[in-house]
Amino acid sequence: MPCIRLVNVTKQFSKGARAVDGLNLTIEDGDFVSLLGPSGCGKTTTLRMIAGLEMPTEGDIYFDDKCVFSAEKGINVSPDKRGVGFLFQNYALWPHMTVRQNIAFGLENMKWEKTKIESRVREICGIMRIAEYVDRYPAELSGGQQQRVAIARTLAPNPRALLMDEPLSNLDAKLRNDMRAELKRLHMTTGATFVYVTHDQSEAMTLSSKICLMKTGVLQQYCPPLELYGEPCNMFCADFMGNPAMNFVECTGTPQADGGIELKAASFDVVFHPAEGDLKGAGRITAFEGGRCVLGIRPEMVKIVDEGGIEGKVISSLPTGMDTVLALDTRGITLSAVAFGRIDYTMDSMVRFQFEGDYAVLFDKDSTERFALGSLEIL
Ligand code: ATP
Repeated sequence: MPCIRLVNVTKQFSKGARAVDGLNLTIEDGDFVSLLGPSGCGKTTTLRMIAGLEMPTEGDIYFDDKCVFSAEKGINVSPDKRGVGFLFQNYALWPHMTVRQNIAFGLENMKWEKTKIESRVREICGIMRIAEYVDRYPAELSGGQQQRVAIARTLAPNPRALLMDEPLSNLDAKLRNDMRAELKRLHMTTGATFVYVTHDQSEAMTLSSKICLMKTGVLQQYCPPLELYGEPCNMFCADFMGNPAMNFVECTGTPQADGGIELKAASFDVVFHPAEGDLKGAGRITAFEGGRCVLGIRPEMVKIVDEGGIEGKVISSLPTGMDTVLALDTRGITLSAVAFGRIDYTMDSMVRFQFEGDYAVLFDKDSTERFALGSLEIL
């Protein structure tokens, strides 16, 4: 049964453009959905509308089969009756209360029985691995421990969904990584539905079961992270996911008799072999003739080889120990490449590279939509 369903939800603030525009989104029970996109794309507004903290201008919101908001029918269930937990960036624990008191406070307000509160606090502290700190005050805890208490406090009443707005952004890089792993484990152990706002594509990639990628209030693609990375529906999605970003090379395309498309870029020619079943209608190939298109090549497809392939000049080489990110110039086109392993390249040296793998993406230059996925053969 779907847990949260948004139907044609639009939010127009009195000043400015639509913050969220006709959003249709179904979050299944037990999903970990990230709302992802650049600053101002409507992530927080969407989350706040789900929580009931913001009223949509149009549309309906359902929790299971129950309508919690309908602009047309005049339904608006208040936030405290929606049964969701909300975790903000500034998680503000009560400084004068111990960890135990911070967690118990909400349950007392909900008139839970004392023994039930005690056992729930014990249980949730065990899950969040904060049992040894229950008698400490927030000031006596590290940032990561405080964050775990804040999550425990939000999870204590067993919310049907946990809504989180950039909850890790105040933590340093190492702690952020640790907390990501904790959140993923927590999602598995609680089986709850998580909705998570972030502008960090790698956070969304690593955590979510599905990503909802938005741009200026409009949903671009909603699917599992690896699908979004490998099969982006347009150039915006392709560009937003991945670091280093996908290479975009402008080409003109000519269909060939065997189903391939010959692509001429400024400094090299390749044949694009569409993956089987990814032609989106054979008619589109004809429409493509002489057509301007954009070839998307992930940096990990650009493979340094000893001989053959295309020649490129190393403009930069950034080794991390695990891999090295290269910028290669090939007669005016600059390509990012990733070489795996402990390896460095001399600046301004010449190298040769091939295109490996079958996840090159061909985009329509005008609409920026994906035309096909496929592999590349250098001519
Ligand atoms: P960020 O990553 O920067 O937090 P976001 O994707 O969460 O951004 P929102 O906070 O949802 O974006 O804002 C979406 C748009 O709505 C923005 O253009 C923002 O300026 C506008 N907006 C948000 N809240 C209000 C408000 N109370 N009044 C007017 N405009 C608002």
